[in-house]
Amino acid sequence: MFEQEVTAKFKNIPTPFYYYDVEVLKQTLQKVKEESNKYGFNVHYALKANANNKILNIIKSFNIGADCVSGNEIKKAIECEFSPDHIVFAGVGKSDAEINFALENDIFCFNCESLQELEVINELAGAKNKTARIALRINPNVNANTHKYITTGLEENKFGINLWELDAVIAALKEHKNLKLIGLHFHIGSQITDLSSFKTLCLKVNEIQAWFVNHKIKIENINVGGGLGVDYHEPDANLIADFAAYFKLFNDFLELLPNQKVHFELGRSISAQCGTLISRVLYIKKGVNTNFAILDAGMTELMRPALYQAYHKIENLSTSPPSPLQLERGVRQDGVRYDVVGPICESSDCFGKAVDLPETLRGDIIALRTAGSYGEVMSSAYNLRDRVKAFYSDEI
Ligand SMILES: *Cc1c(COP(=O)(O)O)cnc(C)c1O
Repeated sequence: MFEQEVTAKFKNIPTPFYYYDVEVLKQTLQKVKEESNKYGFNVHYALKANANNKILNIIKSFNIGADCVSGNEIKKAIECEFSPDHIVFAGVGKSDAEINFALENDIFCFNCESLQELEVINELAGAKNKTARIALRINPNVNANTHKYITTGLEENKFGINLWELDAVIAALKEHKNLKLIGLHFHIGSQITDLSSFKTLCLKVNEIQAWFVNHKIKIENINVGGGLGVDYHEPDANLIADFAAYFKLFNDFLELLPNQKVHFELGRSISAQCGTLISRVLYIKKGVNTNFAILDAGMTELMRPALYQAYHKIENLSTSPPSPLQLERGVRQDGVRYDVVGPICESSDCFGKAVDLPETLRGDIIALRTAGSYGEVMSSAYNLRDRVKAFYSDEI
C-alpha cells in the first residue's frame, strides 16, 4: 500500500498512468550489484521488460549491460549510453537490417538461435569485412515450471539450438570464417520462483560444457539468461527479489573453467516492483452473479492479465483511509466482491475476477501493483486509445 502523501499526489493527475518509484528501482539495483559483485558476475538488463528512457538511464547508471531482442532495442540502448561492448542481442528472428545494425555498432555478442542464422550472420559480417562475436543459444531442455507462454527452454519451444544439432553447428562454425565463438547462452523462461529450476539449469550447463571441452573448443563466456520471478501476490512484503540466493546458487553449482565469465540477463526482477498502473473507477455495475468495477485502464495499458492470465494485486487507494465522501455515504469497509475490468471491447480485458475490495465508488483511485516489467512496454493504441503516460516519484 502506498503512503498517504503519495496517494494524495495522484488525485490531481488524469488517469490512467504508470507511476514509477525511483527509490524502489535504485534499491533493487543496489542489491543486484552488491550480490552479483560478490562473484564477479556480469549483469545485463533485458530491455524488453521496460524500455522507458528514464528507467533505462537509472539502470545504466548502475553499470549494467543491455540484453536486446530487436534492432530498435539496440538503438535505444545506445541512445541511453549503454556501451556497445556490454550489449548482447538475442532473438529467433533477427532480420538482415537488424544484424547489419548490430555489426555496425560492434556489439559484444550475438546470441544465435539456429544453424541458418549462423550462416546469415557470417555472410553479412563478411560483406562488412568484420568478425561477429557469437554465443550459441542452446536449448537445454529444462522445464522452468512457469506459465506455458513464458517457458522457453524445452525442445518443443521455438528458441535456441537443440543439443542434437551441436555436431552440425561445430562443423558449420569451422566453415564460417567471419564468426568467432565466444560463449554459450541459455534462457529457460520467465517468472521462475522455484530456484531449483536454476539448479537444474546449472547441472545441464556443466554437462554441455564438458561436451565442448571434449571437443577441444574453448568457451570464454557462459550466459545463463534471466527469468528470476517476483512476488505479484505480496509486493510490499517482497519488494526486492532474493538476489542473494539467486546469484549464490549459480556460484555454488556452475562449474567454471579458469577465467570464464558468467553473464545474466535480468528483466522482470529488476523493474517489476517499482512500477504501478494507476487508474480510476469509471462505473460500478451490477451483473447477474457479480459486481463489475469498470476502470479507465484496460488491456491497452497492462496486457499481462489478458495475454497470460497474469495476476496483479489490485488496491483501492481511496478507501484507506476512507475518503470524506465514502464516510458520508457510509460505505462498507468489510469487503465487496468485484470483477475488475477495463473499458476495451474484449472479454479478456479483465484484471481480476472476484476481487475483494472495500466498497468501491465511481472516481476511486485503483492501483495495479508490480507492473513495472512487461507493462508500459506492451501498451498499445488498440481502440485508438491514447498512449499511456508515466510519472516518477522524484518528479511529482
Ligand atoms: C525475456 C528475456 C530475458 C529476461 O527475462 P526476465 O524473465 O524478464 O528476467 C532474458 N534473456 C532473454 C533471451 C529473453 O528473451
